[in-house]
Amino acid sequence: MAVKYELTKTCKQSGARLGRLHTPHGTIDTPIFMPVGTQATVKTMSPEELKEMNAQIILSNTYHLFLRPGHDIVREAGGLHAFMNWDRPILTDSGGFQVFSLSKLRDITEEGVTFRSHISGEKLFIGPEKAMEIQNALGADIIMAFDECPPYPADREYVKASTERTYRWLKRCMKAHQRPAEQALFGIVQGGMYQDLREESARQLVDLDLPGYAVGGLSVGESKELMYEVLDYTTPLLPGHKPRYLMGVGSPDALIEGSIRGIDMFDCVLPTRIARNGTAMTSQGRVVVRNAKYARDFTALDPECDCYTCRNYTKAYLRHLIKADETFGLRLITYHNLYFLLELMKQVRQAILEDRLLDFRDAFMMKYYGSLHPEKPF
Ligand SMILES: [Zn+2]
Repeated sequence: MAVKYELTKTCKQSGARLGRLHTPHGTIDTPIFMPVGTQATVKTMSPEELKEMNAQIILSNTYHLFLRPGHDIVREAGGLHAFMNWDRPILTDSGGFQVFSLSKLRDITEEGVTFRSHISGEKLFIGPEKAMEIQNALGADIIMAFDECPPYPADREYVKASTERTYRWLKRCMKAHQRPAEQALFGIVQGGMYQDLREESARQLVDLDLPGYAVGGLSVGESKELMYEVLDYTTPLLPGHKPRYLMGVGSPDALIEGSIRGIDMFDCVLPTRIARNGTAMTSQGRVVVRNAKYARDFTALDPECDCYTCRNYTKAYLRHLIKADETFGLRLITYHNLYFLLELMKQVRQAILEDRLLDFRDAFMMKYYGSLHPEKPF
């Protein structure tokens, strides 16, 4: 198998897992947050900057790279690692999520999904075989099965039919996958918010003995309580010696709560997307840099952060850059936000090592959100 998960310690207080994931491009400490590099770039960050902040693995999007520049060009470049000058691990998603969320005029059949490109309007098709062809060409260390992420809310009948189709698609992905020795194919547990469907999906996937498992279809508009409830009954069904990835979740509270529930990997566009609106995640909570109250604030964005941005620039300067639409402002806040989440996960790993993740969570929540049960999105 292309990847190997090594459990090094279980937190006695919370049950969270500390581990290492060995991949063809290096070893990752888990639990880990993966910055998202949608178009073969983490927006505004260079690979050197990502390494400086100790990003161990990044994610890239199959749908976007299929549309532009096309997977043939990436393959000719020597794969995604060479194309984007990133020699550490990469995970690619299957394209399923974007096909359903970004494209227009989707037509889902047993075969796959026909859709119109959100860029050119061109009619295109992705099914399990195509998703594998594209991801085999991109060459990421971890690749994802083609699935449907059902909307929320959705009735049980729809979710049941969708989850069963996703399972049939997974078996076709396994058959079509051409590079299993170099690329680990993860299956995705679906089933919406229905416990029996989630359990059935998890059992079916585990029977296939995949190199890793993802929990998909969460953070799609449901409450955080509901998301945690689904994790509470889903993750215990996944094998302990395989990595577990919670897809599309990256708010600070969800990273901690997910780790407590036995998740090893997370990704989310949140830190990079909110940076572009001039919003930062700090040890004191959310800071909207654009606010007038920071016009003469000559202190660092986060007094407890030692990232490049916080060591060298003030809120007043960042606010000026954001208001003037200067790209350097986006770069500086993106840098800080990614650093903040990577640092948070480092603290989570340390707390697991010292059997005190629940204490860490409570202290963090009160400081960041002012509440032990925040409902705010981030
Ligand atoms: Zn910082």
